Amino acid sequence: MFRRLHFIGQDVEPETGRYIDKLSPSTGKKIGEVAVGSAADVDAAVRYAWQAYPTWHNRPPIERGRILYAIAGKLRENAEKFAELEGQETGKPAWQALREVEGVAKYFEFYAGLVNINHGEIIDLGPSYHSYTLREPFGVVGVILPWNAPLNQAARGIAPALTAGNVVVAKPSEETPGTLAMLARLAVEECGLPKGVLNVVQGVGAETGAALVSHPLIRKVAFTGSLRAGREIGRIAAERVIPLTLELGGKSANIVFEEADLDAAVSGAVRAFCINAGQICLAGTRLLVQESIHDAFVAKLVEAVEAVKVGPGADALVGAITTAAQYEKVQSYFEVGVADGATLAAGGRVLSDDEAQGGWYVRPTVFTGVRPDMRIAKEEIFGPVLAVLPFKDELDAVRIANDSEYGLAAGIWTRDLGRAHRVAAQLEAGQIYINEYQAGGVETPLGGYKQSGYGREKGIEALHHYTQLKCITINIGGQYYNGC
Ligand code: NAD
Repeated sequence: MFRRLHFIGQDVEPETGRYIDKLSPSTGKKIGEVAVGSAADVDAAVRYAWQAYPTWHNRPPIERGRILYAIAGKLRENAEKFAELEGQETGKPAWQALREVEGVAKYFEFYAGLVNINHGEIIDLGPSYHSYTLREPFGVVGVILPWNAPLNQAARGIAPALTAGNVVVAKPSEETPGTLAMLARLAVEECGLPKGVLNVVQGVGAETGAALVSHPLIRKVAFTGSLRAGREIGRIAAERVIPLTLELGGKSANIVFEEADLDAAVSGAVRAFCINAGQICLAGTRLLVQESIHDAFVAKLVEAVEAVKVGPGADALVGAITTAAQYEKVQSYFEVGVADGATLAAGGRVLSDDEAQGGWYVRPTVFTGVRPDMRIAKEEIFGPVLAVLPFKDELDAVRIANDSEYGLAAGIWTRDLGRAHRVAAQLEAGQIYINEYQAGGVETPLGGYKQSGYGREKGIEALHHYTQLKCITINIGGQYYNGC
């Protein structure tokens, strides 16, 4: 039975002595307790970070990079341990957890290599002036995280923030508190990261998360999570006039055209909604299939979905749903789909007691005959539930794909290069994948259109969101330039 504490230079108990239970997604039983951070705990963490800021920010960038490389190395050395803990708290299969830890190492490695590119530019005002810009860090950045890929999403915010010279106070989800605290401890104790540069406060959203966003020394917030919480955080950030990156939900379209490699599209479509038990903001949960191939494609799809391994096994494609509430929510959509008039073509049930051993496992579920106005086509379910919608032609596909309040990602399956580019240009989404769903890596910028959020994470682009621009202009004598 564990107790997850804050990490503020060292393990710290919550000031109020309050804890909440953490249940295992794989057994449904209590496995530990999580500290509930109060506003006083948040204040202690933010002030501790603020005091470490000058040392970190004034350090030559190349030295910051060296420490980030060391973190990547230590993560790889300890990958099994991190993956085991991530698997225990999220319920994801071991191979997926390991793959995510490798992604975490890559974030630190990638941004370590970018410490020296964070420069500004020289602006030509003629010979009498020297004018230039600097990209400077904000100071203390607050990073608030969800539970579906906890460590990976943490690294996505923390690595570029530290690279740019910021210090961080991060709050993991109360459902997955372990790996981030483990990472912060490893970075400080074994990689030379100065104490105070990366801190972790545990706790619940409405109390701990809100206190973090409201703290006067927090100068920027990066949030990954639901649209509901994003809106609440957005209101506080607007009141405080601080910049915010919002990575929110999605209901992404995955479009299969008649000329596509259909076998590749079937396996791509299955992975697009099944990986991480569908608990991925980017999941391809609306499958748009051209009418001319619809029935044959759906037959192959259903066969592939029924063969998917689900359960506690290490080699399963679909592991557990991470939270009890989410397990209930996903099941409620089985009835919603049927009530809407869609046809249940696969799944629509949880594993039997014998198979599940108390865990929260859902069979991948496919609804066909779905119309764009049905709830299962509009709402983010965040589980392995797929809505299949037929379309006539390219125009129709684009219209249906864009008929969503979200705009996070979209997939296109086609052998027609012209069509690939034409459709990609018309889709309202931040990520477009062609002939491979979720193609890309730590190098490719990620973010939403519409209600899926704003700001960008990953890639070089993310660095700009962790810096503010300063312009300096010197009159070096001579002619007066009558600028405005
Ligand atoms: P959530 O919004 O409930 O919680 C996310 C985090 O915010 C948690 O740490 C929570 O404690 C905190 N929080 C909640 N309310 C808050 C408040 N009022 N003030 C401050 N902090 C608050 O989301 P979740 O259920 O953990 O994650 C699932 C959601 O995250 C899904 O909607 C999913 O699409 C989204 N998500 C988006 C991305 C992306 O990159 N776009 C990635 C992963 C998950």
